[in-house]
Amino acid sequence: MMRKLIAFLLVLGLTTSCTDEEEPSPDNGGDDNGDDNVQNYHKKPVGYSANDLLASEEFKQLQIEIIYVQNYAPEDASIQNLTNFLQNRLNKPDGITISTTAIESPGLAPYSTDDILQVEGNKRTAFNSGNTLTVYGFIADGKFEQNDNALGVAYRNTSFTLFGSKIEENSGGINQPSKALLESTVMNHELSHLLGLVNNGTPMQNDHQDEEHGHHCDNEDCLMYWTAETGDIVSSLVGADDPPSLDDNCIDDLQANGGRSVAIQK
Ligand SMILES: [Zn+2]
Ligand SMILES: [Zn+2]
Repeated sequence: MMRKLIAFLLVLGLTTSCTDEEEPSPDNGGDDNGDDNVQNYHKKPVGYSANDLLASEEFKQLQIEIIYVQNYAPEDASIQNLTNFLQNRLNKPDGITISTTAIESPGLAPYSTDDILQVEGNKRTAFNSGNTLTVYGFIADGKFEQNDNALGVAYRNTSFTLFGSKIEENSGGINQPSKALLESTVMNHELSHLLGLVNNGTPMQNDHQDEEHGHHCDNEDCLMYWTAETGDIVSSLVGADDPPSLDDNCIDDLQANGGRSVAIQK
């Protein structure tokens, strides 16, 4: 059991270490000359689109496309949790929609970063259009080659992957959280990296970065907390009804970068 708890905790630190190493280069479209055309917009580093996601100046609508390998469909409750989470934080007056589409296994497990990019290249169909900003998520039928313990990763400005088989291993059993609760926690966490947390595209209003663990929050009760030394986060998931929330410091950061100033629902 302890191994599983630690496995979950490691993923919370993974996104930053991964994105630090895997930032898009000029070769794959990560140019720095302000060229935000539709073709290259989705190939930027994590955090690049934080303001576009939070504010309504450039994009009034958000469309999230989730592609999952069959048998790894996201739980309805996870989709609902993500919708509620984003509606409380984003200024998207024309709405937030999430679609889910099943695909056959690409047969690539375990997935390297290149494999994940390849799947996105082959399967992503939603790209920005007019006032609509798009985010792509992939639920893989395997683990992360670079880190066997990863449950999810945010790897580009509008892209994330959940490692579905790893989530199933760590949920639904005795003394484990439900699949929906664990999946929601990881998904909300990865989306929060896309929103620029912590100190990665969305500037901090107060210093609350846990620098030892990359772009994470120093509050152990916050959704953006990471620790590999204790079971605090998973312990609190077991028996909890909902994923951890963002704390005031993280919410202040999002609001200062264009996010919704008053939550519309709990
Ligand atoms: Zn993280
Ligand atoms: Zn926080």
